[in-house]
Amino acid sequence: MVLRGNRTASINGDNMLVAVRMRPLSMKELQSGQRSCCEVMGDKIVAITKAKKPGAVLKSEMGSVNEYQFDEAFDANVPQYEVYQRTAKRLIPSVLEGFNVTVFAYGATGAGKTHTMMGSERMDAERATGAENGNTGVCGIIPLTLMDIFAGMKQKQAEATLPEEKWSLSVSYLEVYNEKIRDLLEPSGINLPVQEDPKAGIVGVGGLAAKSAESSEQVMELLRFGNTNRRTHATDANATSSRSHAVLQIIMKQRWNNSKGREVTRESRVNLIDLAGSERAGKTNNRGKRLQEGANINRSLLALANCINALAQGNTRKNAKYRDSKLTHLLKSSLEGQCKLIIIANINPSDDMFEDSHNTLKYANRAKCMKIDPKVVRLRERDMAWPEREKNMKRQSNEQSK
Ligand code: ADP
Ligand code: MG
Repeated sequence: MVLRGNRTASINGDNMLVAVRMRPLSMKELQSGQRSCCEVMGDKIVAITKAKKPGAVLKSEMGSVNEYQFDEAFDANVPQYEVYQRTAKRLIPSVLEGFNVTVFAYGATGAGKTHTMMGSERMDAERATGAENGNTGVCGIIPLTLMDIFAGMKQKQAEATLPEEKWSLSVSYLEVYNEKIRDLLEPSGINLPVQEDPKAGIVGVGGLAAKSAESSEQVMELLRFGNTNRRTHATDANATSSRSHAVLQIIMKQRWNNSKGREVTRESRVNLIDLAGSERAGKTNNRGKRLQEGANINRSLLALANCINALAQGNTRKNAKYRDSKLTHLLKSSLEGQCKLIIIANINPSDDMFEDSHNTLKYANRAKCMKIDPKVVRLRERDMAWPEREKNMKRQSNEQSK
């Protein structure tokens, strides 16, 4: 049976994009007789088939087929740069105009989230498809986005016309692990508080280090350092499974002096997020500490799903319970629509992973209905809101540390 009711694109035009990326089957999966249960048709539709028995090949052994339409769908042969071009690259002009942007990769462990966001440092020896399919690209969305933001800033600086106009960039890198926020660039920063400014609606993290950087290479160096502090552990699903959600925050600032000689700042924030795996606990044979980690990962991903559902139903924003997890609290302003949003759902096509892949597709399908209407905060307004915002954040921080 083919269900076609899912064939609508997301409703947010340029403000939101939901994409699905299918990775190739690995050599190991092919050798163990795994078959692909997913197919990308054209550049927007993904079909997923439930086989009646494992390893089914005959048509009579196939069960139901579900088709879903997304803004973009990438099959296993689509190279890294094209994934970037058709997703995050589209929002680079918005970042330079002052919009906030969030990109997150969602999916089960081993589905390709880190490959999509960060890229692979080395060619994976067991990879089934390689250079001949254009899958050799090292750089994922994070390094490619950084390169384009730095290039864009350089051009803006060269064309600067405002008095004392200066463009600068800094980065923060944190992980949410077991419902605690840890600073990956300053490992002494553990259990940092989420802070919210009720007026400006901006969410930040108290005490989080922000390191200034002049080039994408410098940021990548910081990320490499940060990654050595990340909590990863082997699960049955992946040799280096990420047990935490990693959030890279790029803060781009444009400063100049207004006609009264007062300094004005405009800031855009880009959140690039590699989420922990969304697989069901039963699948991983995790015990003890790993099971507890899994429960916390599921708690935050469930909270994220609930927020997406509430926002997708479109009734009101107040139904979304951001405070149910650190992750959703942190993402509040992105999800509420103060931010342009890109969701990349990653799937491993092996038929063994049918349930997880189908859940990921359903998750992404619901996210298409979220309503988002971000705005650039007008410069003058933000200029005036600034001191008050800082004051509010300091007060909250003091209250939380009491
Ligand atoms: P996750 O972060 O979702 O747990 P990874 O990104 O670590 O998954 O991917 C698991 C494995 O699959 C890695 O060896 C990675 O190099 C490989 N892989 C993922 N996506 C692709 C792809 N699009 N093309 C080729 N190999 C991929
Ligand atoms: Mg990963």
